[in-house]
Amino acid sequence: MIYGKNLIDGAWMGSDEVLVSADLDGQEFAQADAGQVEAAGLAARRDFRAYAGTTRAARATFLRKIADEIDVLGDEITATAMKETGLPEARLIGERGRTTGQLKMFAELIEDTKYLDMRHDVALPDRQPLPRPDLRLTHRPIGPVVVFGASNFPLAFSTAGGDTASALAAGCTVIVKGHGAHAGTAELVGQAIANAIEACDMPRATFQLVQGSGQSVGKGLVQHPEIRAVGFTGSFGGGRALFDLCHQRDLPIPFYGELGSINPMFCLPNAVESRGVEIGTGWAGSLVLGAGQFCTNPGIAVMVKGAAADALETATVTALQEVAPQKMLTDGIHAAYTSAVQSFADLIEEIGGCGVADAPRYALPALFKVTAREWMANPQLQHEVFGASGILILCNGVAEMQALAEGLEGQLTCTLQMDEADTSLAQALMPVLEEKSGRLLANSFPTGVEVASAMMHGGPYPASTDVRSTSVGTLAISRWLRPVSYQGLPETLLPEELKQ
Ligand code: NAP
Repeated sequence: MIYGKNLIDGAWMGSDEVLVSADLDGQEFAQADAGQVEAAGLAARRDFRAYAGTTRAARATFLRKIADEIDVLGDEITATAMKETGLPEARLIGERGRTTGQLKMFAELIEDTKYLDMRHDVALPDRQPLPRPDLRLTHRPIGPVVVFGASNFPLAFSTAGGDTASALAAGCTVIVKGHGAHAGTAELVGQAIANAIEACDMPRATFQLVQGSGQSVGKGLVQHPEIRAVGFTGSFGGGRALFDLCHQRDLPIPFYGELGSINPMFCLPNAVESRGVEIGTGWAGSLVLGAGQFCTNPGIAVMVKGAAADALETATVTALQEVAPQKMLTDGIHAAYTSAVQSFADLIEEIGGCGVADAPRYALPALFKVTAREWMANPQLQHEVFGASGILILCNGVAEMQALAEGLEGQLTCTLQMDEADTSLAQALMPVLEEKSGRLLANSFPTGVEVASAMMHGGPYPASTDVRSTSVGTLAISRWLRPVSYQGLPETLLPEELKQ
């Protein structure tokens, strides 16, 4: 059952200001006030040492318990998320499995000490000209962290999503700033975590859920003096504003923001010749997944012009014509999509779909075509459009394709569609694409981010604000850890994992 309250220091609290959810039949959600934001930060700080001091085994049990509690509320979570986001049932059930899977993955990760990347330099008392001390290094949790729920993944990148799971695994207390687009889903998942806190006897401010606007609650949390790191997925503008705030603080803190990417797909000549239709159909499928509201949506396909490219284009257009209108996540995201599609239509040739559907919040795919020269010359065409909009870019030859790759901004992903006969061109592109993106793919599509130890989901700015960090996969835990060296300390003072 949804109460419309915030979880602060172990208690569900209301406030004077409420958000009324039209999706949930007028359910009211308390918007945290400044005093509650302050209290959440202080409680997260107060309980940080106790939580950071829990054993890895206890935290692993806690993470698994959260997963179990989410499953207990599973049907209610799915039904609520369907109403709030418009996403279909199968997708939300899948996303719940991914969310509980992530929690269990981090539980398993911390049962072994490998993630702590420990080092030990044994003392050399007789070394000349100076003795070497005993030096041991491990990683300690960074402190209380704030996680912003993402609009497009109400479960896997929100309340108990990847950032929360990895931060709790690391030993950090977590405050989630819920996304207003799915306040009810956020609260239900928050209830599951609260149940797990109680069952596992964890400190009560181990996890808190604070709902409210970015301008008040979001800014208040990242500026709270006790917060030590922030995780974020969302828009370029919002992410950049919060990044700047984190760095302007008296005590600057890391801000791990995933902001936006157009995920270029380079379709190399032999692959286009031999299987252009297959690539075009596959591109259309990837483009419209989840109404295109994926950060890894392949927004541009780059190829050399000619008959084979024409066949790929026809296949893409044909496949997109089959797609029914899809509901978008929020009115704001829908408005941003239709306005971006309209601005493209004013600039370049529209070859399939117009983006606009008749029902409110519903959208259709849109496909455009442009020359590589025009695309490179116009920065307006190079921004992410959040939704099922794609641009087919035609090059005058492979040199122009290479020039386009050189001019790209940082990306989450870059994809090569290639046959064996394309290998030398692919080899020439590789050093450029490696520099531009966090994940390189061959002969598949970038939507569908595997939760696995070798996954990198991040990339050079503006794809993310920290090129060294990922929000998916086991490496994500390093966001919330900091290295500490222990020099010559007696064993009784060392962290458990550093003892002989
Ligand atoms: P958003 O507007 O960036 O909002 C994300 C979160 O940040 C929300 O909690 C929001 O609070 C807060 N926020 C935004 N601007 C802020 C600011 N200046 N100061 C403090 N807090 C701020 O993203 P969204 O609502 O998810 O969707 C809007 C657009 O973001 C989409 O159209 C799309 O372009 C992009 N997006 C990208 C990705 C991706 O994976 N790259 C994912 C989702 C969305 P409020 O809700 O109160 O503003």
